[in-house]
Amino acid sequence: MPFGPPTWSPPLPHVPDSISIETFMWDESNGRHPLAKSQDPFTDGLTGRSYKASEVKERIDHLARGLCKEFGWAPDQGSEWDKVIGIFSLNTIDYVPLTWATHRLGGVATCANAAYNAHELEYQLRDSGAKAVFTCLALLETTLAAAKKCNIPKERVYILPMAPGVTQGMDGYDHKTLEDIVIAGSKQPPLQASDKSWKAGEGARRTAYLCYSSGTSGLPKGVMISHRNVIANTLQMVTHETPSRTEFGKKNNLQSFTETALGLLPMSHIYGLVVGSHAGAYRGDGVIVLPKYDFKILLQTIQDYKINMLYLVPPMIIHMTKARDTVKQYDLSSVRACFTGAAPLGKETADDLLSIFPDWAVRQGYGLTETSTVVCSTVPDDIWFGSSGPLLPGIKARLVTVEGNEITGYNQPGELWVQSPAVVLGYLNNPTATRETFVDESDGRYMRTGDEAIIAKSPNGHEHVIITDRIKELIKVKGHQVAPAELEAHLLTHPAVNDCVVIGIPSDREGEVPKAFVVKTPGGSIEESDALLKRSIAKHVEMHKSDYKRLRGGVEFIDVVPKSPSGKILRRLMRDRERERGRRE
Ligand code: AMP
Repeated sequence: MPFGPPTWSPPLPHVPDSISIETFMWDESNGRHPLAKSQDPFTDGLTGRSYKASEVKERIDHLARGLCKEFGWAPDQGSEWDKVIGIFSLNTIDYVPLTWATHRLGGVATCANAAYNAHELEYQLRDSGAKAVFTCLALLETTLAAAKKCNIPKERVYILPMAPGVTQGMDGYDHKTLEDIVIAGSKQPPLQASDKSWKAGEGARRTAYLCYSSGTSGLPKGVMISHRNVIANTLQMVTHETPSRTEFGKKNNLQSFTETALGLLPMSHIYGLVVGSHAGAYRGDGVIVLPKYDFKILLQTIQDYKINMLYLVPPMIIHMTKARDTVKQYDLSSVRACFTGAAPLGKETADDLLSIFPDWAVRQGYGLTETSTVVCSTVPDDIWFGSSGPLLPGIKARLVTVEGNEITGYNQPGELWVQSPAVVLGYLNNPTATRETFVDESDGRYMRTGDEAIIAKSPNGHEHVIITDRIKELIKVKGHQVAPAELEAHLLTHPAVNDCVVIGIPSDREGEVPKAFVVKTPGGSIEESDALLKRSIAKHVEMHKSDYKRLRGGVEFIDVVPKSPSGKILRRLMRDRERERGRRE
């Protein structure tokens, strides 16, 4: 028998499958606090610039008309794969509305990590078949370099203005801005949104977002996230939190209430996109958008906007606990809860945070790009440090041993398999990886997460998911994905590297960092000392990969990379050896 949500959990409401995410967002018939009633759905935390909900709606409309004219696309014609728009930008208040305008045209938004360099961006733009890119000034140079490599003309590179009035690009070329398209679109005839002509089930088949994840192994792959997937996860989160929010409302004599939430996490990542933006917007919360992580600006923003709900990743929480004195200089009394995910939050760190802010509900969620984010999360009434909480409504989970046996008892580890309406369609143009990751069982389709978990009873007597290990080949640095296969392939282009294996090792500040074990090229022509050689190998990564992929865990020379008889790198063996070494030291 698979595990399910706790008994207190309300059932998942019907998940519509023939409308777009945006249509769902504005729908006032669902009885919740809709986006339409929100004061200011998205506010720029640096400038205070915001649009009212009605303005957001109008801007999306004009933007869609403008994009239609710009590209000659028609909402009801062609496949969504002919209308892929890349977004490579720091967070802005126009980020999510731009994706919704793309959807109105029946297109796909592919969101790229703003930390990427030109090669990494090129890979995603090429793989996704993006026809145009929206970027911000700070990333224009990188965007232009990548766009050129994949034959996207510079006229198809647009600027998302971080501050009004700044349009001049670094190449001296006056790029069109999103604002220009909105204005041009306002003069165009009204447009029928793409989903008006959708048949039943089309929202479940159509990709809305193409985010990149390496999954359980190999290189980053385009994860096809449908409209229904995002709607489902939004409903799952909102439903999961309804009992505790109702309780809070009762205690504080509030009929209905909305929150002010932090929009700092990258909107290019599923956590910032779905949890941080869509779920908040759907509840009618106000999202205070920050372009990037700056500790003091973060604290100042929480104080200035009286933010109630923080969405963070563990390294940011660790930063807070290590900088108590700085933190205490700000009035953070508005904060009710702090939600963390994307990587494990240690119990000690949670304890430390609580010792500074005893009133905060320190919540943890677990999820993946492939599940459109959250699978399980703790709620304020049932917090158990170290646990990722109960399963969300509409989710079934199995724990499966390496031998393929199903675990039905508590406290026994196995790979976590997830069934949910938010489990994505698969990987773009990669049937093999799709087949290996998404499996059909007698009771439906499951996603094999590649994470090891146990189910345990919380002190409150509810079943919680505790992530105990990562089986798959993935390193998470400050919540960012690093695919070992990508670094290994790159390291092999260094003349002194004959063979190699990359693993993640624990780091206090970053969670994990990559470490390379290298077999030197025999009789290599490079006559350098080991120390110089290691530096040269590390530099080789530094020069060609984004900063968070650097070999901060170091380079170590070994004689041979352990491999299975079929030639598969035994990464786990290296990781276990390294852990054992760490324990001994
Ligand atoms: P991503 O697709 O980038 O969101 O990465 C998903 C992966 O991040 C999961 O498969 C886990 O390995 C890891 N992860 C996410 N949340 C947690 C958590 N709360 N605890 C432990 N690992 C997590």
